[in-house]
Amino acid sequence: MNRTAAIASILFVGISLAPIGSHVAADEQPLFGYSTESSRTERQWEEKLRAIPSPDNLRAYMQKLSAHPHHVGSQADKANAEWIASKFKEFGLDTHIEQFDVLFPTPKERLVELVEGGPKFVAKLEEPALSQDPTSDQKSEQLPSYNAYSIDGDVTAPLVYVNYGIPEDYEQLDHMGISVKGKIVIARYYHSWRGIKPKVAAEHGALGCLIYSDPHEDGFVRGETFPAGPFRPLDGVQRGSVADMPFYPGDPLTPGVGATKDAKRLKIEDAPTITKIPVLPISYADAQPLLAALTGRVAPDGWRGGPRHHLSRRPGPSESSPQSEIELGHQATLRCHREIQGATFPDEWVIRGNHHDGWVNGAEDPISGQVALMEEARALGELVKSGWKPKRTIIYCAWDGEEPGLLGSTEWAEQHYDELRAHGVAYINSDGNGRGYLGVEGSHTLEKFSNDIAHDISDPETKLSAWKRQRLHEIANAKTPEQREEIRKRPDLRIPALGSGSDYTAFLQHDGVASLNIGFGGEDEGGIYHSIYDDFYWYTHFSDTDFVYGRALAQTGGTAIMRLADADLLPFEFGNLSDTVQTYLKELKTLSQKMQDDIKERNKEIEEGVFKATDDPKKPLVPPSVEAVPPPPEFRSDGKRRGCHQSQRWGISKSSRTSQRQWRRRTFFCLPRCGQQNAHRQ
Ligand SMILES: [Zn+2]
Repeated sequence: MNRTAAIASILFVGISLAPIGSHVAADEQPLFGYSTESSRTERQWEEKLRAIPSPDNLRAYMQKLSAHPHHVGSQADKANAEWIASKFKEFGLDTHIEQFDVLFPTPKERLVELVEGGPKFVAKLEEPALSQDPTSDQKSEQLPSYNAYSIDGDVTAPLVYVNYGIPEDYEQLDHMGISVKGKIVIARYYHSWRGIKPKVAAEHGALGCLIYSDPHEDGFVRGETFPAGPFRPLDGVQRGSVADMPFYPGDPLTPGVGATKDAKRLKIEDAPTITKIPVLPISYADAQPLLAALTGRVAPDGWRGGPRHHLSRRPGPSESSPQSEIELGHQATLRCHREIQGATFPDEWVIRGNHHDGWVNGAEDPISGQVALMEEARALGELVKSGWKPKRTIIYCAWDGEEPGLLGSTEWAEQHYDELRAHGVAYINSDGNGRGYLGVEGSHTLEKFSNDIAHDISDPETKLSAWKRQRLHEIANAKTPEQREEIRKRPDLRIPALGSGSDYTAFLQHDGVASLNIGFGGEDEGGIYHSIYDDFYWYTHFSDTDFVYGRALAQTGGTAIMRLADADLLPFEFGNLSDTVQTYLKELKTLSQKMQDDIKERNKEIEEGVFKATDDPKKPLVPPSVEAVPPPPEFRSDGKRRGCHQSQRWGISKSSRTSQRQWRRRTFFCLPRCGQQNAHRQ
């Protein structure tokens, strides 16, 4: 890198950041987990860090990393991993690439055709190149549109539209007297993780599953479509994994252990996370003729998607034939990482990660996040050169194979389980970035910490602090007056819990390391997710076009990592955790009461004959049947788990590691009696 240019950009950014107010007043509260003196030093270093990331670098890195389709196992993916590793080395310290061998299926043949019950139609299953968009024509390097970890198969059966394909949609179908047994279902994307759709369909006896992108969700109903606007064009397809990741993520053949060369592997036919029925994703253009061929009842209100065909959309059946042949093979997945050794507590690791593999060119997902992470790494390297010594060891990771199944991060977290249990302090993830508000989700022990960080980050467009802007956004969007009142009164904004869906999963759910997921968004809508159009052209026309939010993400991630690495005492606040658990408890009680009341009311109406009397005899529905009222839930505290003298990562059950059913081993502890406990070191 060009040193003169870097210094020039530090000066320039430093000046523009000056009014944000991170100058330390003499009587300012010390940072959480810091003494007055160490807090003062830390603030000075952090201010230096935040001045370093440069939008020009972010743009250049993105152009390079998204120049070719770079899915796991591809040539461009390998070249990107090596380039990232070489940049990490150039920025300063110890870097290496660790390799795992995982199962990664790619399609050999795909076919969807309407063979009966409508005009003969063969789906295109193809996203056209656009002349304006220079990388959209890299056909020979692009992965075709498909759902990874679908089993292969050839099915001909009647078609049934199942809305989003979630359990309540099947209840509605039952009510209308429609069964999917022995049929192929067509579901629209959204309202659930995509892998749930074929899973629930198979549980109801379906033989195959098509998932299409409805314009109501991310296409023309939302706004202008690509290339005129950011939304999904008619031919755009969403690729994606359908592995049963709630069961366990990572390589389907090596649950619980790192997929090293000699690891013991399951047989493919015994891998429980591969789907039971074949699945293919299709575009709206390909879905239209299939949906138009459906007959029967008009679909209920909440089931109708984009306006062009909603009246003719009825839940089936008609004949359709999806066929897919998948090549199940082993490919390499790579991960590279870079370390800065801690000076005082080298055995405590603060970890930061983002994935670098995409489905195709993946400029937004994941490169927009990856480039911010690289600028953080560069900035930390600069600080080390000017004499900064973190107390704890910092590890920067660029994961591979996130898209098919969180492969790189899961295999690494499984392989290094014992070390992560012993040394992992916290993991901070990002997975792409856009324009708008700072979103933070994660472990509630880090809720106060993440609020503190957001106070020190400037929103690049409004110049408000990221915290203040988010707070005002939450006030504007509060659903009830009580919620609004709480946002105004509570010192910390609440953060949503993490489920799964990105590389934090194995850290949080398997290894029990407190985790956060960060990223800007909310003002960068679009519909190019997992299509060939998620590329540099789209990103630089419709998202964070001047990369100022990319810089803000680098400032956020970098500040968080530094503050965790430098703290005298780790800034975990268990009061926030216990407060959150109490809200969950309240919610559970309310939900259980509502469920009881609803069932009692429905049973009463069945008894009174309400359903029989109001059912149209010419369009009869299946009446509900009497249900037993469930008992209220019982809550007990576990007297053995007292005290908060350990971090969240101790909250893991000691069950056998080899059992797949036990892959997620994180349990809550530290209930209200620990509320007063503040920062502490592990
Ligand atoms: Zn991603």
